[in-house]
Amino acid sequence: MTKQRILVAGGAGFIGSHVCDALISSGRSVICLDDLSTGTIENIRHLLANPRFEFVEGDVTSPRRIDCDTILNFACAASPVTYQKDPIHTLRVNFEGTRHLLDLAKTNKALFIQASTSEVYGDPEVHPQVEPYRGSVNTTGPRSCYDEGKRVAEALCHAYAETAGVEVKIVRIFNTYGPRMSIHDGRVIPEFIVNALTGNALRVNGTGEQTRSFCYISDMVAGILATMEAPTAFRGPVNIGNPSEMSIVSLATAIVALTGSRSPIEFSKALTDDPARRCPDIGLAISRLNWAGPLVGLKDGLQRTIEHFSMTLSSSSWDMSF
Ligand code: UDP
Repeated sequence: MTKQRILVAGGAGFIGSHVCDALISSGRSVICLDDLSTGTIENIRHLLANPRFEFVEGDVTSPRRIDCDTILNFACAASPVTYQKDPIHTLRVNFEGTRHLLDLAKTNKALFIQASTSEVYGDPEVHPQVEPYRGSVNTTGPRSCYDEGKRVAEALCHAYAETAGVEVKIVRIFNTYGPRMSIHDGRVIPEFIVNALTGNALRVNGTGEQTRSFCYISDMVAGILATMEAPTAFRGPVNIGNPSEMSIVSLATAIVALTGSRSPIEFSKALTDDPARRCPDIGLAISRLNWAGPLVGLKDGLQRTIEHFSMTLSSSSWDMSF
């Protein structure tokens, strides 16, 4: 049965706001909870007048009562640059925040969908990454606040499902990109596009031979909604992403070509614990979910994203001094 009143924590963020759009388009009511730390009102402004949409400004580390029958939890900064700024807060958002939302799901008898991440696999020894692989994560490195935070959030979901009867589903999101990413985001695609468009150097960390597999936002949203709509017995975790893998240096070259930029590509020191390879095995998602898989290719997706950043940069409101 279709759930009707959906709480989207982190709903003003990049992925969260696109999920809010899709839920509103499909006739649901949405309560968007966001502390606007990385999300923005701009991402949801077009929804504010909709009677089926409500915005609540707040942080998930405080408990709150919200009437809903489904909860999607996207609340957490996702860019390494951002989540490393305040690692204790990142851990609190993932532990305390997820716990409060799971308590709310228990009280409301709501379905709970956790936005987990490919980062639970750390710097993986298994390639491509399959869900049963348990990962290779440094507990005391610069990424540990996010990686271990997301891992404990999965453990919380599992514990609430086993002991408190909460219906949970866990989706492991791989690198996603598209319109509404911030020019200050810090992740590789926004960083490269903004620098290419402004004539600055694209800075590749390390050799650039490390790989990622980039999924366009509309394909990701379709996968998340398919997870939400999967039969009750399907708890996951399930990988959602695009298995088309590429090196970071070839991404830089592609973005320079697509923007027609004269920006140089420069190399700097490798980051500590930067995963060498990442690629989702999406076999489980394809076989168990009503999801078509990725439909938008990299060139098409990058062109749409370049358009978004060109518009943002040419509008008067942007400020690179942030
Ligand atoms: N990266 C880079 N230059 C940048 C930003 C990122 O070379 O300006 C690299 C980064 O070191 C990593 C990859 O691009 O190998 C993806 O980084 P991102 O921050 O997008 O996310 P991650 O997948 O590491 O969480």
